Amino acid sequence: MDLLKILKKIMLSIPLCDRCLGRQFSSLIPSYNNETKGRILKDFIFMIEKMEIERGRRKSLKVFKALAESGHLLSINFLKKNNPKLNMASKPCYICSGEINNIIEKAVNKIVEASSEVEFNTFYIGLTLPVYLEEKDEEVKSFFKLWFGEALKNELNREIKTRIKKALEKKPKMRRPDVLFIYDAINDKVSVQINSIFLRSSYRKLVGGIAQTKWRGMDSDSVTPSIEKMLEETLLPVFGGKKIKFHGAGREDVDVKMLGSGRPFIVEIIEPKVRNVDLSNLHLEFNKRFGNMVEVSPFSRASYLDVPRLKMEAERKKKTYRVVFETGRKVSEDELKNLSDRLAMCLIRQRTPLRVLKRRGDRVRKKMVYSALFKHIGDNRYEAIITCSGGLYVKELLHGDEGRTVPSVAGLLDTKVKIVEMEVMGIEGG
Ligand SMILES: [Zn+2]
Repeated sequence: MDLLKILKKIMLSIPLCDRCLGRQFSSLIPSYNNETKGRILKDFIFMIEKMEIERGRRKSLKVFKALAESGHLLSINFLKKNNPKLNMASKPCYICSGEINNIIEKAVNKIVEASSEVEFNTFYIGLTLPVYLEEKDEEVKSFFKLWFGEALKNELNREIKTRIKKALEKKPKMRRPDVLFIYDAINDKVSVQINSIFLRSSYRKLVGGIAQTKWRGMDSDSVTPSIEKMLEETLLPVFGGKKIKFHGAGREDVDVKMLGSGRPFIVEIIEPKVRNVDLSNLHLEFNKRFGNMVEVSPFSRASYLDVPRLKMEAERKKKTYRVVFETGRKVSEDELKNLSDRLAMCLIRQRTPLRVLKRRGDRVRKKMVYSALFKHIGDNRYEAIITCSGGLYVKELLHGDEGRTVPSVAGLLDTKVKIVEMEVMGIEGG
């Protein structure tokens, strides 16, 4: 069937507004919006019909009448002039009853209103439509076998997006926009989803007794101070966020210091109301308040994709620890030398430590010790400088964890080992 025949068949069967007619043929001409396309198609039928009448090939005015009833102005004027007695009623669009332009208008107003409460640079639009609208559109497409159109929701999304872009001078972005406005046309409501901001930095923990993250057990405000809590107190007031989430490149135990150039982390600010913050002095603000315990390096912008990368890199990076420990007996200089030789470039087999078994599955990890140097520092007290792969449980490497870590310092010396003090001296590339 040719285009003209299809068009006439549709117009004689059901009234369609310009937009709903144009949508059925939208892929045939990429330019123009659907409303303009629909009007052009109606003009096209009008021209053909007029030609037929003027050539005297046709007497019937039924196509003009159908066009006029669907709101086609040229046809209305033509009929008024040529057949003033003809009874014409304006008929609502079969698909949308004229609702679509209303929906667009209301959505734009609501979104503009909601946008004033949040700072953003990029946005995207989501839409919930009354089911009958999409059903009727699909019904017309399938009844007349129209395969050149686009989905109704697609069109509305685009129209609303274009108007918002113009009204607010912001960029639409499909993947991870700063905010997503979801307009619910059934209840005339808009909900706003604000995507997190991610900032990268690294911390140095100068004293023991500080957790990396807040205790997430029953007592949410545990007495143990945490880096996460310190970041929350510094960053939430600035970004107007709901809460923050800490993503560390690995972690050290609460009692272990983190020195050297620090441990990288990413802090996620959830549902921030403010985005365009000057980051250059933010770390100074943190250090002024908490610098006697924890220092952070300058913040820089990161993306959500950096979080899994950070975790992966943490596993791969070498770390150097300083551990002070006591043994059950005196250990000679020769034994210390042998211990160093035995542990250099040594593969350690480690079953999940007893102290973390509750939280982690019991499995064997294989990690490297690259070098281990030992020094006698008094009585049965020794210092070890150990460089190993990320993810090695260093305390267990020392005390052996009841034979679950092999080899271990305690196992090789065949004596008990007690850890007195421990710190991370540095992370490779950190
Ligand atoms: Zn319509």
